[in-house]
This record gives sequence, C-alpha cells and structure tokens, in this order.
Amino acid sequence: MSYQINQVLKPIIEILNNKDVNLYLVGGQVRDSFLNKTNQDFDLMVATDFNMLIDLLEKKLGLEFTYHDKFLTATTKFASFELDIARARTEYYPAPGSLPIVSPASIKEDLKRRDFSVNAMAIQLNGSASGRLLDPFQGRKDISNLKLRSLHATSYLDDPTRILRGIKLILTHNFSFCRKDRQQIKDLLHLLPWKVLSLDRVFNELRKVLNLKTDISQLAELLTSLNVLKLLDPDYRFTKYSKTQFILLEEFLKRLSLNEFQIRPWLLRMAVLLQESKLDLDQLSLKKDEIKLISFTPATKVFTWRDNLSPTINIYNLFKQYSLEEIILLLINRGKFNIIADFNKYLKNYYACQIKIDGADLKRLGISPGPIYQEIFAKLMLEKFKKNVDDNKNAEIKFVKDFFSKKE
Ligand code: ATP
Repeated sequence: MSYQINQVLKPIIEILNNKDVNLYLVGGQVRDSFLNKTNQDFDLMVATDFNMLIDLLEKKLGLEFTYHDKFLTATTKFASFELDIARARTEYYPAPGSLPIVSPASIKEDLKRRDFSVNAMAIQLNGSASGRLLDPFQGRKDISNLKLRSLHATSYLDDPTRILRGIKLILTHNFSFCRKDRQQIKDLLHLLPWKVLSLDRVFNELRKVLNLKTDISQLAELLTSLNVLKLLDPDYRFTKYSKTQFILLEEFLKRLSLNEFQIRPWLLRMAVLLQESKLDLDQLSLKKDEIKLISFTPATKVFTWRDNLSPTINIYNLFKQYSLEEIILLLINRGKFNIIADFNKYLKNYYACQIKIDGADLKRLGISPGPIYQEIFAKLMLEKFKKNVDDNKNAEIKFVKDFFSKKE
C-alpha cells in the first residue's frame, strides 16, 4: 500500500481495530497508486455492516456523511480529500444506456460491474489480510501496458458513458483502448442511431472530459477515429473544419493565462465541437447563457477587421459587440495564429481599463442621469484603452470633468 494511502486512511483503519468488518480501497485511487499519481478521491467499500461503519466514523471522527440510499453510498470531506464509502453491490441495466438497478453483493461481484480492468481492483485495508490486492481482471497487467479493457462484451452497450470515461483516462493517464474494446466501440457507434435513454448522463461525462485543465488537443484525433459525439447526436460528423478549429482553440487556451479571465474552456470546446450539429440543446441540462454560447456560430458573422484602423481601436470595437468567449470563437474562426498570440496582450489592456467610476460618481459630479452616461463611459473606456487616461479613479474623474469643460 502506498505511503500516501496509509497516511490518509490511518485514522479510519485504526478505528476498525478488533472490529469484525473488512474495509477495501477501490477504483481510481488503487489504479493511480500503481501509476504513482496522486488522486484526491478515496473510494472505500465494505461487503457488510455499511451502516455500522458510517455510524462509527461519524461518532469517532466527527465526519458528516451525505447518503445516496439508492446507490448504497455515502460521501464526505476528509481532510482535503473526498471520501466515498459504498456497500458492495451488483448492477443490472433494465435497458441499454439506462440507469442501473442496484442490489447488495460481495466485493468480487462489485468489481465485476466496473468499467475497466484497471478500475476493478481492490486493496484490503485492515484485518489480517491488510494490504492484499484483489485483481480478478488482471488490472495490474493492463496498467503496465497502459491498456483500457472492459470486463464483458456488452459493457459499452450497457453504459455508453464508459466510452467517454475511457477517453478521459486516455487524455489524463496516457491509456489507450485495447484492440478488442476499440472494435467494440466502433461497432457500437456504427449501430447508432439508437435511442440513448440518458442523454444527460452522456452529456455530463462529456462535460467532464471537456473540463480537463490540460491540453486536450489529442481529443481531435480520438474523435476522428471514434465518432463518440454520435452518442449525443446520431447525425454527428466530426468534420475537418471542426477538427482544425478544435486544435486552434487548444492552442489558444494553452497560451492564454486562464485564471485571469472569466472563461469557461469546457463551454468553448463544446461550442467548437457542436458548431455543425443540429442537436436540440434544450434537451440537455444547460443554462441559458451556456446554450447561447454553444449556439453562437462565428462562421455566419460578418467579422470585419478594418486594417486601416489601429489594432487597439479595432479590438475595442470588437469587445463592444461580443462577450469575451464569443470573441475567442470569432478569432478561432479566423484561424490566424498571429492574432491569437496578440490577443493575450490586448485582453490584459482591456481588463486593465475596466472603468472604476460608476453612475453615482457621475451624479456626484452634478451630471443628471440619461443617455449621456453611456456616452461618457464609452469615451472613457476608449481613452483608457489608448492609455490616454490612467487606470485609477482620480484620473477617470478628471477625464469626465475635462470632457464636460470641452463640451461647454
Ligand atoms: P477519477 O480519478 O477520474 O475520479 P475514478 O476511476 O475514481 O477516476 P470515479 O468516477 O470516482 O472515477 O469512479 C470510481 C470508480 O467507480 C471507478 O474507478 C470505476 O471502478 C467505477 N465506475 C464509475 N463509473 C462507472 C461506470 N459508468 N461504469 C462502471 N464502473 C464505473
């Protein structure tokens, strides 16, 4: 057992001393411990005495659990980690792609319902067999070969979100699908359209992939060979155009210091991937503004770049019309790397010139509210952008006073 696992789980393991219950570590943490990767999630499992264990941890460690009765699981925060405790269970899928019906089972049976062999291992944490690895599907071997292997022939049909879970592991852990799985996925996607019952589940899993903080340009290759978005839209085609745009976007996101800006990379990625799809977005759990951005189609916008104006003023004019995220989509659509490289610089200027005074300040200066306010703010923004007004409130107030004295 790794040092980190031992250290983190020590208080829990100690509480179980002399208790007749066997606790197991399962899932991603076991996989990642063999890859020397840190993981913030600890999935624990017991075959029996689930309620007794939760009671004990609540009383002795003061943990507060949230229960998910239907799935026989409870979750809590434990130090800086997410702790998930589950009663071993089997799953039965009443129809392909639907939510499973679960019932209690043994540890080994529980491992059988999992997605990949590399995620279907368990380490016993306490008792005389503490440290023992249960690896019924040769997950260790697949980890050494970095291969993703499902546990039975209808695994992806039962739950197509497993394809996206696999893709996430490819992008984050460098795994690849084994040949048999790759073929199974291809065959399955070829069979579409079928009615995937839980569109939302597919979408949420896709969102997790697109939410990754790293460069995911490799996804473009994966989507070229496996048309996974057919799971959302049976008519989906990942065209060369979308592919180029996607790679450009990744290039862009890599260069942009994201923390500085209110940008949602997952949404931009989604917008690029779905730009040629006719998918009805209202079917998905998306907010209004998210739907608006995904539906934003830069190709149809008349995007004029007036070269005779200075770039500063051009960018200013652009910002006026579109949101920051829309502008990124427009720039990606233009497909010019040099503009992308300059963009960071311009953005910084733009943010540096956010206006510090507001309507109340104008009122205090004796200006009555009306359309003039907008005119003042627009002028001020432009002058700040051109660096004619310093980035502080006093300078802005002085600008407003000068503006009026010139008007009079
Ligand atoms: P991550 O590091 O991304 O959290 P993880 O493998 O721990 O990876 P979780 O979503 O926390 O991912 O799932 C925990 C475990 O539950 C997985 O390792 C896997 O064994 C199992 N699991 C999760 N989702 C599925 C699924 N759709 N089908 C089968 N097994 C699943």
